[in-house]
Amino acid sequence: MASTTRTILSSIPAPFKRKVIGIDPLLKETDDRFTPVRVDNLKIRTNIKEGILKNRTSNNTFSVDRSKKLAVIIPYRNRAQHLATLIPVLTEQLSSQKLNFRIVVAEQADEERFNRGKTINVGALAEWDWADYFCIHDVDNIPVNAEYGCPSEPLRLVSLWESTWRTYDIQQLTYFSGVISMKKEVFSAANGFNNEYWGWGLEDDDFLIRCLLAGSIPHQDRQGVFTDLNNPAAETAATNSWVRHSNKRWLRWQMLRKNFNAVGLSNIRYSITDDQECAYYRKVSYRN
Ligand code: UDP
Ligand code: MN
Repeated sequence: MASTTRTILSSIPAPFKRKVIGIDPLLKETDDRFTPVRVDNLKIRTNIKEGILKNRTSNNTFSVDRSKKLAVIIPYRNRAQHLATLIPVLTEQLSSQKLNFRIVVAEQADEERFNRGKTINVGALAEWDWADYFCIHDVDNIPVNAEYGCPSEPLRLVSLWESTWRTYDIQQLTYFSGVISMKKEVFSAANGFNNEYWGWGLEDDDFLIRCLLAGSIPHQDRQGVFTDLNNPAAETAATNSWVRHSNKRWLRWQMLRKNFNAVGLSNIRYSITDDQECAYYRKVSYRN
């Protein structure tokens, strides 16, 4: 058994070995509200490190535009309580920020493992013609202080969770998830999310790499505060191995990111099973 494992591991070609980048020219002490998400501790294949670092020049500027059309995309399945908590708070925030917005709840309506990346792509495509930019919004993140305007560079709206089950500090990590906004052009240049992550995790790290390789500089709002609702125990990655794992996901993660033009918006296949206007949002349901 042990020798089989060793053979498989040593047959992985050298370029697939991963290392942290180690340096980030944009990582500095500052009081600015919006700062680049750090990439120094991002673990990547060494042969795409150069592709990421060449875009990290120090002369970037960041701004927010409130005149653009916003589609909020909520990836969703079976979290009715969370959705009922989020919608009124979100709607109030977006209205008070005087934004021209639509909310689309994208629902994976089948029994496969949840595919967050693909579900987000379905939601984005539903509002593609109308929207100028997207805010990809987990259903369990409730805004307390949030900037929903159109960011010149992709933006992570969350920097602090007022209450959370998480034990890690996202300021110390390379984290680009929870609630993020980006112009439609960036989403398109990244080829959307990878469609092939079934189960919990990694699709968000993959999307960050896509944004970086597409030449953008993901930022964070250091004043962004949210509440992080508890997930139903049966669905959390911590307690449910079926949710957590999918076949060889870790390897695919490293292979597909090189060819991100092949997997994402460009090859997505799904069937819409329902599309309805609810009181405060549009709900688009699909099956794989
Ligand atoms: N999600 C969902 N139903 C599920 C799993 C995930 O609606 O069964 C959506 C939901 O928007 C959730 C997001 O995907 O906020 C991320 O999943 P989860 O909250 O389980 O991930 P974590 O917060 O543990 O990273
Ligand atoms: Mn969550």
